[in-house]
Amino acid sequence: MQRLRLLILGGTSEASALARALVGDPRVMPTLSLAGRTIAPVLPPIPYRIGGFGGVAGLVDHCRSQAIDALIDATHPFAAQMTDHAYRATAQCGIACLRIDRPAWRPEAGDRWINVADMSAAVRVLGDVPRRVFLTIGQQELAPFRAAPWHHYLIRSVDPPPPELLPPDATIIAARGPFAVEDERALLIAHRIATIVTKNSGAIATAAKLAAARDLGLPVVMIDRPASPPMATVPDVAGALEWLEARHAASIRRGV
Ligand code: NAP
Repeated sequence: MQRLRLLILGGTSEASALARALVGDPRVMPTLSLAGRTIAPVLPPIPYRIGGFGGVAGLVDHCRSQAIDALIDATHPFAAQMTDHAYRATAQCGIACLRIDRPAWRPEAGDRWINVADMSAAVRVLGDVPRRVFLTIGQQELAPFRAAPWHHYLIRSVDPPPPELLPPDATIIAARGPFAVEDERALLIAHRIATIVTKNSGAIATAAKLAAARDLGLPVVMIDRPASPPMATVPDVAGALEWLEARHAASIRRGV
């Protein structure tokens, strides 16, 4: 049986878990692709590459030159451009494509969420009265908050954000999840946070802040997910492994 040459688009815990699950599987030759955004990424136990492909055309070239048979897009729910490129490039190449799309967080009783479409809307919702705001939106999309310099921002991201993106009154915490509810509650109290701004990533590792906000009765400005293309989707790594099993079974039936 020919080994399936699989390209995994990563940058998430799901991509890392999928890579670990495929170690030693003689049916698959996986490669994990990382964008190269974090200074010290968690490196996978399988072959990997780092850096953009150069748009849809670059990804098409990569898939063709590496004889990729299938692609699993396990990028973050907000990595909309990469997902769009994966959808279009695999369609052009005629190769199978699957997306791992983890379920979004849903509000629970006691939550005070304000749903918004994007960062600019989040800035507007914060209003004109100075507030102490906990920003957990990563490091790349902070610039819109410079338009509301009267707030104090507690900013948490994996790597320290570029100074030129920062609003003037900012405290930085560089940290990588998972985070515990008690620690999140203590952080919110210690920094006298009034409002949290976050993206609806759906990640288990970073959900504790939502429970802490609920406990403390704090509002959460929740940035909704961007739309994604109409591609085959599973909610988790188990679903991706089932999809791969089905492909193996089909190739055995075809005798390849
Ligand atoms: P994006 O806006 O969708 O993608 C921008 C460009 O970055 C893509 O067009 C592509 O460049 C390159 N790229 C993105 N993911 C890549 C990958 N896995 N391998 C190779 N190139 C990649 O993505 P983003 O929101 O900047 O996110 C970048 C990475 O961080 C993603 O891998 C994502 O999973 C991870 N991440 C994102 C967030 C978030 O909130 N957005 C949070 C946690 C982790 P080319 O066009 O040159 O191919």
